[in-house]
Amino acid sequence: MEVRKIAVLGAGLMGHGIAQVAAQVGKFNVNLRDINQEFLDHGMSMIKTSLQRFLKKGVITQKEVDETLKRIHPILDLKEAVSDADLIIEAVPENVKLKKSVLSEVDGLAKPDAYLASNTSSISITLLASATSRPEKFCGLHFFNPPQLMKLIEIIRGAKTSDETISLLVDVTKKMAKDPVVVKKDCAGFIVNRILVPALNEAISLVWEGIAEPEDVDKAIRLGLNWPMGPLKLVDYLGLDTTLSIAEVLRDNLDPKYRPSPLLRQMVRAGLLGRKTGKGFYDWTK
Ligand code: NAD
Repeated sequence: MEVRKIAVLGAGLMGHGIAQVAAQVGKFNVNLRDINQEFLDHGMSMIKTSLQRFLKKGVITQKEVDETLKRIHPILDLKEAVSDADLIIEAVPENVKLKKSVLSEVDGLAKPDAYLASNTSSISITLLASATSRPEKFCGLHFFNPPQLMKLIEIIRGAKTSDETISLLVDVTKKMAKDPVVVKKDCAGFIVNRILVPALNEAISLVWEGIAEPEDVDKAIRLGLNWPMGPLKLVDYLGLDTTLSIAEVLRDNLDPKYRPSPLLRQMVRAGLLGRKTGKGFYDWTK
């Protein structure tokens, strides 16, 4: 089957970027769906801002900007968004109940031969696949933030994912000029988050224990490990809420040693979620 139309569910931080890269680079037609007009408008305005940035840098032409925008259709109605899609990529918030209910509804509305994928950072692919009647056509498709710039995609095999699904998703992501890796077993955190999130949590613990200021933790890791960005700034970009959920999944599925720092939990409770709310370890309002 050839994938021509992709539906992206969720126009947030990740969803708008996935929709953009699919339309801009992969030249796919894209239906972008969110639950209210305000979120859809926000997603589309982020796409426009990003395209303008590429235009200013000379990466794309005005014609490509216009054509990309023509290929993206913001849609509120779920049925309309998924019924003609060959591939549906779910990018709704990292919450098992929500994702299962969205996927089960989508399964009933999508074409019988459509493929489903989840951009989950940490939830079991096998568990999400079980909410659908087509686990062999379901896999994890883990983009990195920002999807417009990050080359890597983890393609995760669930217990029942077919070889055909994996190879189709490898082809689709290559059309988006991505460099995919296949994660052969469905395991919490996949490859990157299994290594990254415990490191981020440790950086937060250093601040909680009063060992160093956030700026110095970041400076130490930038200059000492050559990371392009310090871990706490990275947490602000990822979202503290997302980071907390991943840490909890690692703790629950792998080992109690992955428990989240009390500071991370406290900041999420206070709504200090990072860049998306204006404040996290840094002030993003200026
Ligand atoms: P986000 O909160 O920025 O966006 C989620 C969007 O989904 C919101 O706009 C919300 O209104 C929308 N939504 C909620 N219910 C919906 C529904 N039923 N149908 C359609 N849209 C719905 O979250 P995000 O950071 O974009 O994360 C989305 C997914 O991507 C999560 O599973 C997350 O773990 C994963 N992810 C996040 C990052 C990251 O850096 N933030 C990186 C990789 C993967």
